[in-house]
Amino acid sequence: MRQSRLLTKTKKEAPSDEVAKNAQLLIQAGYIYKNMAGAYSFLPLGLRVIEKINNIIREEMNSIGGQEMYMPSLQEDRLWKLTDRWSDENVDVWFKSELQAGGQVGFGWTHEEVVTDIMRQYVSSYKDLPFSAYQIQTKFRNEVRAKSGIMRTREFWMKDLYSFCATQEQHDEFYEAAAKAYERIFDRIGIGEKTYKTFASGGAFSKFSHEYQTLAEAGEDIVYVNEKKGIAINEEVLGEADLSELGVTREELVEAKSIEVGNIFSLGTKFSEAIGLTFKDEKGENRPVIMGSYGIGPARSMGTVVDLLSDEKGIVWPESIAPFRVHLVALNTDDQEVKDWADGIYTVLQKEGVEVLYDDRDARPGEKFADSDLLGIPYRVVASRKGKEQGTFEVVTRKTGEVRNLSEEELLADFDDEE
Ligand code: ATP
Ligand code: MG
Repeated sequence: MRQSRLLTKTKKEAPSDEVAKNAQLLIQAGYIYKNMAGAYSFLPLGLRVIEKINNIIREEMNSIGGQEMYMPSLQEDRLWKLTDRWSDENVDVWFKSELQAGGQVGFGWTHEEVVTDIMRQYVSSYKDLPFSAYQIQTKFRNEVRAKSGIMRTREFWMKDLYSFCATQEQHDEFYEAAAKAYERIFDRIGIGEKTYKTFASGGAFSKFSHEYQTLAEAGEDIVYVNEKKGIAINEEVLGEADLSELGVTREELVEAKSIEVGNIFSLGTKFSEAIGLTFKDEKGENRPVIMGSYGIGPARSMGTVVDLLSDEKGIVWPESIAPFRVHLVALNTDDQEVKDWADGIYTVLQKEGVEVLYDDRDARPGEKFADSDLLGIPYRVVASRKGKEQGTFEVVTRKTGEVRNLSEEELLADFDDEE
């Protein structure tokens, strides 16, 4: 991608109406656009990041047997009345609308009811179980406050997976596999070290549920952590009995702000009983399916990465989710020979399958470097007159500031090895 053709431009200043660091940096760098409070556009650069995150999530969900599907946002009231989740008294985040044909629809803020209803068509015997299905889809929630940039919006992507099991053992096994997959996801997107599987209350069907909480000053949540023991607990399970079951004391736990990037939840038979999702067991008896639900917010995860890993110069993307791997910055572009040399390496890198953003603009070096730091692409490759004379490119690692001067051959070998 040539930066001169990129439809977005960086801004000199961060937007003054944003308080959240993630939104300030992402808007300033041209990744996102704020349409209104709680609703953002993902521009080409931002969408590239989200798609990388989504693909990591997909790979990990597929690896535990999840089958991808897609369900509509529009939801009929009938199903939600069966679970008592239609009324605004019981659920305070509904967006609803009137149908011209008569009746009401809601915009899905989660999909347990819908997915349970669908599966009634396909589950009849224990032989049909277990399985799991997921989607990466838009949720609508009428959040009271939306001040955390892309971490809490009124329209957002969610990966929501639902598991369907015949027995508690099947469910527990899947739940554990999902927990491990979640750890791999947060490791791969670069926030694993600060993300804790956090014990939360489990509702009626299990002792605990688990939230994935990333320690961060910008967090809206509070958790109680023991970093040494690698354990975190949320407020709901701070009781003495719970703590002793988890093998910690209150004194060992430190209060910390955190961001909930995901959660996993045993649903038991709550939804299957209300909606009528049953199967015949080995004895031919009808039983309700045991379910679980597993959510992740891709944009909230992206915001968390920006919040955690950026520095005073701008964003620092981990390679796994960076919009491009290389930021090729051409200097002295008024010199045709230097320009050709830069164009040449651009073509070669592309041919080698390296994702490159090519700053081919006529601008001063200082401006180009500042933009490059702000954009946060992992490797900056500088093509300059001096470099051309010496036959080398200056390669700067964004995260560490390490500088190396590499010949074309060395450069290509370097990007080859790490693939
Ligand atoms: P919170 O307590 O922060 O409101 P939640 O418990 O309502 O989150 P879930 O309903 O479990 O969240 O949603 C699953 C995941 O979707 C969350 O872990 C989070 O990553 C993401 N998510 C939830 N609400 C939002 C939102 N308003 N904007 C962006 N992402 C969200
Ligand atoms: Mg919520």
